[in-house]
Amino acid sequence: MKTLIKADRTIDGTGAEPVIGATVAVENGRITGVYTGEVPEAASAGATVLEYPGSTIMPGMIDTHVHLNLPGDGTSLEDAVREPEGVLVATSSFTAARALAGGVTTVRDLGAMGGTVFHLKRALALGHGKGPRIVACGQPITITGGHTWYFGGEADGEVNLRRKVREMVKQGADFIKVMGSGGGTVNTLSWRASYTREEMAALADEAHALDKKIAVHCLCAESIEYAVDAGVDQIEHAGFLIDGKGHQKFDPRVAEKLAKSGTPVTGTLAVAGSAVNAMLAKDKLTPEEEAFLSRWQTLLEDNVEQFRKLREAGVRLVAGTDAGWRFTPFDGLPLEMELMHRGGMSTLEVLTAGTGFAAKVIGIDQEVGTLTTGLAADIIVVKGNPLDDLGALRHLQLVMQAGEIHRSA
Ligand SMILES: [Zn+2]
Repeated sequence: MKTLIKADRTIDGTGAEPVIGATVAVENGRITGVYTGEVPEAASAGATVLEYPGSTIMPGMIDTHVHLNLPGDGTSLEDAVREPEGVLVATSSFTAARALAGGVTTVRDLGAMGGTVFHLKRALALGHGKGPRIVACGQPITITGGHTWYFGGEADGEVNLRRKVREMVKQGADFIKVMGSGGGTVNTLSWRASYTREEMAALADEAHALDKKIAVHCLCAESIEYAVDAGVDQIEHAGFLIDGKGHQKFDPRVAEKLAKSGTPVTGTLAVAGSAVNAMLAKDKLTPEEEAFLSRWQTLLEDNVEQFRKLREAGVRLVAGTDAGWRFTPFDGLPLEMELMHRGGMSTLEVLTAGTGFAAKVIGIDQEVGTLTTGLAADIIVVKGNPLDDLGALRHLQLVMQAGEIHRSA
């Protein structure tokens, strides 16, 4: 099975400028060549040709922060996790299919109940259902009663934390996720670090000893500092909350430290963006919804501003939405990228942050993320030019994963 994909231009995901009039050749699920101009006879003989005038060929998008367990339809975390594990597996199967249909060919799942996402991964590997490639951590490790404790990841103290890391790896974790501060879970403190410096250092040390990356959820400066000092591989959110009322205060000293470490940050700007959009889409708002809207509008502006400051400080930024959380949808990467662009990144930088750089950050760049000969054929074609308008990412002409066509206009 040979396929040639032709469009007006390719954006290869490496950060390179677009190439006009390129053709991507696919055979047996892999990219076998990227040609400008004439395609060699050996590549074109017997090939099916897919032509998309007025369009752009790109690597499939990579969302580095999702929660497949959660529907992303406004349901609160507390309500979603009241369902039994079987329902969460079924929901995950549904959300995975949604992501793939939205051109997201890889997701990294940052926390789920028990073994539910490992079970979904297995079912997809058996060919039962459609979904993106999944890189998963299983249960996020959290302090007793900490953010998302009901997923099963509670552990405290150095000995127990090392054991919990080992347990997650035993269950099949591709990487380790830690809740470095509180979060949206009731009665957790988002503005304080959850683990001590010593505990965070033990977590990073144990993950690395088992050859796994470690990503840490941080909503306050103290948690970012502890994680960076421990030598973790990635920071999620990088918030600067200072109290329980949603007030934030950017800390340039911590930002500079973060930049110097080279640790990439996933902004998850789509969380606030989706919450605001969901309210604005309604005809009439209740007083509670009015308050919800105004709170999230403030958070959105603060988050975009902080994102801009992180970027200016030299922090490396990668695309990830937190899909599943409240109103954040599984096809929300275009929104995330638009907000990243609003936060100061060029459209080319943003597209790289959602493809090639995302693959590098989550450790799968030898398999996917760029239009490179030899990599798996995870490819999308979008109408128009996303360098001019990132909204083009919503107009999918083709979604191909490992050479298989999942959506074609
Ligand atoms: Zn999350």
